Amino acid sequence: MSKVIIIGAGGVGTVVAHKCAQHHDVFSEIVIASRTQSKCDAVARAINKPWVSTDRVDADNVDDLVALFNRHNPKMVINVALPYQDLTIMEACLKCGVNYLDTANYEPKDVAHFEYSWQWAYRERFEKAGLTAILGCGFDPGVSGVFTAYAAKHYFSAMETLDIVDCNAGNHGKAFATNFNPEINIREITQNGRYYLDKQWVTTEPLQYHCSLNYPNIGPRESYLLYHEELESLVQNFPTIRRARFWMTFGQEYLTHLRVIQNIGMARIDEVEYNGQKIVPLQFLKAVLPNPQDLGKNYTGETSIGCRISGLDKDGKPMTYYIYNNCSHHDAFTETGMQAVSYTTGVPAMIGAMMFLTGKWNMPGVHNVEEFDPDPFMEQLAVCGLPWHEILNGDLEVPNTL
Ligand code: NDP
Repeated sequence: MSKVIIIGAGGVGTVVAHKCAQHHDVFSEIVIASRTQSKCDAVARAINKPWVSTDRVDADNVDDLVALFNRHNPKMVINVALPYQDLTIMEACLKCGVNYLDTANYEPKDVAHFEYSWQWAYRERFEKAGLTAILGCGFDPGVSGVFTAYAAKHYFSAMETLDIVDCNAGNHGKAFATNFNPEINIREITQNGRYYLDKQWVTTEPLQYHCSLNYPNIGPRESYLLYHEELESLVQNFPTIRRARFWMTFGQEYLTHLRVIQNIGMARIDEVEYNGQKIVPLQFLKAVLPNPQDLGKNYTGETSIGCRISGLDKDGKPMTYYIYNNCSHHDAFTETGMQAVSYTTGVPAMIGAMMFLTGKWNMPGVHNVEEFDPDPFMEQLAVCGLPWHEILNGDLEVPNTL
């Protein structure tokens, strides 16, 4: 029996809260805390369980977080606010003896750059304090790392290539909308691409490489090479991987809008003077774009995210392996009121917290998900709404020319 605080009451926080509340045997008390408490209240009202309460916190402020933790004395905090808050929340955890989990690595507000170094720097302090920090426990990062660890444990003696493939074949009926926080999403997509080849990182222009890949139950979709944070930890934790890449699908309409947004300066993250006031264009854009949380109602179609891996099997013979989950936007909305992108992030975050609280992923220090035993996580994934499927020795389709 353990109390958790969920920080963030956006699309992902809403799903995490719903899913934790379904497992009262593990999550004895749940506090949803965010900058705007009325949003937490709305989530708690929808869940309507006496063990779910709300509070308010400015997670940019360590003292405010410490006061929140002291008021509630949680065992663990599930951080589903924004990547900007990761370090302040980790600091507060160390001050109050609280374990930590998040779904996205730290990013400074003024540079669109993400890497694990800032959070890995906390390893010794968490270890000495006897506290566990689980990094990147959404779908990708998150399940993508657990899938890779599962492949390594059960199928491969040496993995050689890893392609993480992320397809959203949904239709929300809007001309342009992002599926999670627009500011974080657009910063991620407009960066240079990067992939790992023969112990080196190769940088590409944004969305320079693309190819058509077939997704189960969906069909062919144009998939673009992006840099994604889990590549950084996976190539360290599985050093036999020679090539690691990440692909995400985008429709032409989405890309055209994105190009215009960039060309007219609306993707800028520096301050500009407007009517005597300083504004950041990308933050202003977020205020006028559709709210990702409101997309769920009319969202049709599904997501399909997985890992395509090649290497040598346990007997040293060449093999390929594809493991994936498909998630329906409609089903996700029916269960939690949120679309599948929030759902596929929130469910793994709940399971990661469950793994820690039930003693299966209790390892003081700061860890990426692939460092833990994948089996109990995979068991829960299958029964908590994200069933997974495997294809052995099929055609991975991914290009070998890069
Ligand atoms: P939203 O923008 O919908 O929600 C963010 C929430 O955090 C809001 O409730 C917001 O409050 C709150 N918040 C922001 N700043 C603060 C602060 N200083 N103090 C307290 N609360 C704050 O985002 P999403 O739910 O779409 O995404 C949440 C996280 O999930 C992001 O970090 C995102 O990168 C990550 N993610 C991870 C994925 C994965 O697969 N690993 C996939 C998708 C998302 P307010 O409403 O007041 O602004």
